[in-house]
Amino acid sequence: MSGWREAAALAESSPLAWPGVRGPVFADYPLAPLTTWKVGGPARYLAVPSDLEDVFQLFRRAGVEGWPLFFLGRGSNVLIADAGLPGLTLHLARAFQGWERREDRWRVGAGVSLPRLARQAAAWGVSGFEFLAGIPGTVGGAVRLNAGAHGRSLAGLLTRVWVATPGLHLLELPAGELELGYRSSRLLSLPHWLVVEAEFRLPAEASPAAVRQRMRELLTARRARQPSHPRTCGSVFKNPPAAAAAGYLIEAAGLKGRRRGDAQVSRRHANFIINRGQAQAGEIQALIREVEEEVRRRHGVRLEREVVFLPGDYAGK
Ligand SMILES: Cc1cc2nc3c(=O)[nH]c(=O)nc-3n(C[C@H](O)[C@H](O)[C@H](O)COP(=O)(O)OP(=O)(O)OC[C@H]3O[C@@H](n4cnc5c(N)ncnc54)[C@H](O)[C@@H]3O)c2cc1C
Repeated sequence: MSGWREAAALAESSPLAWPGVRGPVFADYPLAPLTTWKVGGPARYLAVPSDLEDVFQLFRRAGVEGWPLFFLGRGSNVLIADAGLPGLTLHLARAFQGWERREDRWRVGAGVSLPRLARQAAAWGVSGFEFLAGIPGTVGGAVRLNAGAHGRSLAGLLTRVWVATPGLHLLELPAGELELGYRSSRLLSLPHWLVVEAEFRLPAEASPAAVRQRMRELLTARRARQPSHPRTCGSVFKNPPAAAAAGYLIEAAGLKGRRRGDAQVSRRHANFIINRGQAQAGEIQALIREVEEEVRRRHGVRLEREVVFLPGDYAGK
């Protein structure tokens, strides 16, 4: 069952009727089921746009009302505050699911999940997308953070993206203009630019069996390293540029297993924080702060967060 369906089943509220918007819009919608950590409060308004027209209609409404705007894909890299999100949240996991292949170019909707992308490439016998199989996000969230693993990242595949802006423009940006770096892109400083489509270069074809085999190997390597616990957000911190890996630094600071309520630094991989069941976002946030302070005190290294705090990281932008 997709996160969207889970949440739809949970929500008691019926969609609101917003003139000109075809996709459903909900008031006070619980967001925790739409995230992998399963924490966080409701969105004041949650909209699931059907298409680009809907996106612009929603941007217009937010502009008129003066509401802050937030975006959510699969919620696999966000910590949503217990108080929830004010304003309007656009959730791209139902629409923007299409793709079109033309020769060596593949144009994909921003709501497509990365494992689905990897499986389709494997079915075509196209290698290069295997590393995406274990990353449970959408194309949109992945472009913004230049998601990557096993020494690869989207930067090596992406040719262009299409972005909708609150100024009601649809911009086509060549990948070279996105300043893609290690878990970063120019879009990090443009939090209200919504990625709606992305285009990838399809590398040389191989046999589907060989591509699937490579995908399985990478998934096995991942399972051996990472906690099997489903309620995580992946790595909490980026690996610092001129120091040991974040997980090593956290472990060496004696923090493996450290708890705040039901939030716990994983014993398997110290750069993961798991929700053992009933964790609150505030507890996870406090644990993250504790890890940051302890690593700075012990190793003199300032860890940079990979996970996004909502609304915190966007306050004032
Ligand atoms: C078990 C696990 C393993 C993981 N492993 C990896 C890994 O190996 N490598 C890696 O890079 N990441 C990893 N992640 C983190 C995460 O899956 C990726 O960062 C992913 O790209 C986030 O996509 P999302 O759709 O879930 O984004 P969300 O978490 O929904 O959002 C993340 C950020 O992107 C913004 N955003 C979402 N959609 C859009 C859009 N369409 N346009 C503009 N902004 C948008 C949000 O506002 C938010 O700021 C892992 C996570 C988990 C839970």
